[in-house]
Amino acid sequence: MKTKQVGIIGGGPAGLMAAEVLSSSGHSVTVYDSMPTVSRKFLLAGKSGLNITHAEDYARFVQRFGPAAQRLRPALDAFTPDDVRNWATGLGTETFVGSSGRVFPRVMKASPLLRAWLGRLEGRGVKLLTRHRWTGFAENGYAFDTPAGSKTVQCDAVLLALGGASWPRLGSDGAWMSWLRDKGVEVSAFRPANCGFDIEWTAMLRDRFAGEPVKSVTASSDAGVFPGELVVTRDGIEGGLVYAHAASLRDRLETEGKAALILDLMPGRTAERLARDLARQDGKASFSSRIRKGASIEGVKAALLREFGSDADLADPERLSQLIKALPVPVLRPRPIEEAISSAGGVDWNAVDGGYMLKTIPGVFVAGEMLDWEAPTGGYLLTACFATGRAAAQGIDAWLQGQSAPDFASNNQQTGDGYR
Ligand SMILES: Cc1cc2nc3c(=O)[nH]c(=O)nc-3n(C[C@H](O)[C@H](O)[C@H](O)COP(=O)(O)OP(=O)(O)OC[C@H]3O[C@@H](n4cnc5c(N)ncnc54)[C@H](O)[C@@H]3O)c2cc1C
Repeated sequence: MKTKQVGIIGGGPAGLMAAEVLSSSGHSVTVYDSMPTVSRKFLLAGKSGLNITHAEDYARFVQRFGPAAQRLRPALDAFTPDDVRNWATGLGTETFVGSSGRVFPRVMKASPLLRAWLGRLEGRGVKLLTRHRWTGFAENGYAFDTPAGSKTVQCDAVLLALGGASWPRLGSDGAWMSWLRDKGVEVSAFRPANCGFDIEWTAMLRDRFAGEPVKSVTASSDAGVFPGELVVTRDGIEGGLVYAHAASLRDRLETEGKAALILDLMPGRTAERLARDLARQDGKASFSSRIRKGASIEGVKAALLREFGSDADLADPERLSQLIKALPVPVLRPRPIEEAISSAGGVDWNAVDGGYMLKTIPGVFVAGEMLDWEAPTGGYLLTACFATGRAAAQGIDAWLQGQSAPDFASNNQQTGDGYR
């Protein structure tokens, strides 16, 4: 069989994983990326330790992908969190499970893993062309801006692995969305995911407490109740606990125009005990003194109560205890997508077949964050990018060989879409 030319546009985790699979199937693979180096977002993820996957019960793991769980499941089944860990080990990066179940490389960074990965790809003949920005479909191929000027590339099959729309300065700017829409591909607008939120702080809170962590609290929203910590910023709130509720707060803002994160500032004490202890304080003492002595609350937590409680709430032990246990923090809007950890939206699932090929553009496949799914932080994002990169590569391989595609759509890998 003649060697097939496969172009992979986008050298992030999804694109590189596809390059790994396709190069070991004997195809000639070229990865194109607009940036001077590939996988910049992956390297940035390494700055916070590179949470590469999660060790929780697998059924629970899959549910973290919400409405997209069912559609992602076959790809995840074929490259599970254990497979991610074994793959990293195979590249010389041992991993460990942190106390929260999150999995990290022992070295807590991405660069050694990426270096070894790129070495493996080079050894298999994968060509890497950086500073090659795809600018859309040309009449007879794919148009690129390169340091040597514009050029058009022809391939037997192409994988688009262009990422979502967060942190555009790292390369994924979502510019491709209109080019695909023009080709009849169904796409949904990008929205920030795993993001902070704006809050209308008083000047007092902003000036005195911006940058302060709010530790050992639980927060609830439609997403559930989670313990953790968040950070007060000049514009609002951010941090792991906020990201865990981000999708639900964002969706509620979109549907109802308002939303609030409910904080329990003292998860270890009941409202009854707090009310009793607060009632014992001298009614003439200042609020700071009463709340410190009666509830062991001071600093930013006391400021939050002042910020959102009425004078009557703060004066009455019963009402104050209720507020400590369920303080509504109204959010105005998500922070801009440029600051978000990830994005929701992108290529609709019904625009791709079971082998991750675009139904309206035969021979063009998609993978990674540019597909319309979202998940919380916790290693879910990278795992799904790796898994869909592999699934799309297998779809490409089957399509190039004129075989039935492996069906990554229906949890039934026996029935193909028939690339014959
Ligand atoms: C600060 C931060 C921390 C994160 N930490 C974690 C973490 O710990 N765990 C986790 O699971 N996830 C984490 N993520 C998310 C994770 O990094 C992404 O979900 C993942 O990188 C997406 O992979 P991808 O291959 O789909 O796209 P990307 O990694 O975005 O790669 C897309 C590539 O396509 C290239 N490209 C885009 N447009 C073009 C074009 N027109 N022409 C040519 N090339 C183009 C880009 O330059 C880029 O290299 C983090 C994200 C951020 C921003």
